[in-house]
Amino acid sequence: MSDVPKSHPRYISLALRDKIVEGVELGITSIHGLIAHGRGEAYDYLLSEQTLTFAKTSIRAAAAMLCLAEHPVISVNGNVAALVPDDLVVLANLLNAPLEVNIFHTESGREEKIKQHLLNHGAEQVFMPTTEAELFYIDSNRKYVHPDGIFTADVVFVPLEDGDRCQALRKMGKNVITIDLNPMSRTAQTASITIVDNVIRALPLLCEEIQRTPTNHEMQSVLNQYQNDTILSEALRHIRRGANDEW
Ligand code: ATP
Repeated sequence: MSDVPKSHPRYISLALRDKIVEGVELGITSIHGLIAHGRGEAYDYLLSEQTLTFAKTSIRAAAAMLCLAEHPVISVNGNVAALVPDDLVVLANLLNAPLEVNIFHTESGREEKIKQHLLNHGAEQVFMPTTEAELFYIDSNRKYVHPDGIFTADVVFVPLEDGDRCQALRKMGKNVITIDLNPMSRTAQTASITIVDNVIRALPLLCEEIQRTPTNHEMQSVLNQYQNDTILSEALRHIRRGANDEW
């Protein structure tokens, strides 16, 4: 970011805007992604732009679920590809899991550009959507998946998911882990584990937690105790409390 000094109180937020805009310029982020990012910014503001305790609980559960999964897959859209390409690659390597491109708006070869972007950041395996495998319960372009990727995954990690597909994946019996700053979105409400935090903060913490390599017993017990509804209620309470304090 050329002309904003690091001392600027909104430096990180402005730097993220730059990354998303750059994503659009590179043709990997949809112009609609700018609107989704803006919604995220608003919720991040209400969440004090910090990884709060409830998000840390979800991160621990997500790490456990991903480590215990038989076939975890990481779904990538244009916003996460622009914001956190290196962290996605680190996560894929830690889990030995494929990355799979899955987007709503497929204009101008965007899927291929996202794949190339991930490869440029060191990704080893990037699956693309195919017509050989289709998700049930969904009509949009996002139903096209890879037969060895999302189609057969037992756990799908989908930072910044769209509610329709999250519901479809759940109906197909898959566990879904998402990162979503809005605890009221359909995605947040239907995922198995919702990390209510910004992807740029949550993803590095998730990788750290996976590297801590807790025992299988420890991970199973974390999962047994985890309740997504409780996490979402805590996030909402934080937002309401913050709003009341302000006024
Ligand atoms: P849903 O279909 O689940 O109801 P939506 O229609 O509200 O979702 P989308 O436009 O599909 O939302 O996706 C944007 C979602 O991603 C929003 O919930 C927004 O809060 C969240 N989001 C945007 N940027 C980030 C980010 N950097 N980190 C985490 N979440 C984000």
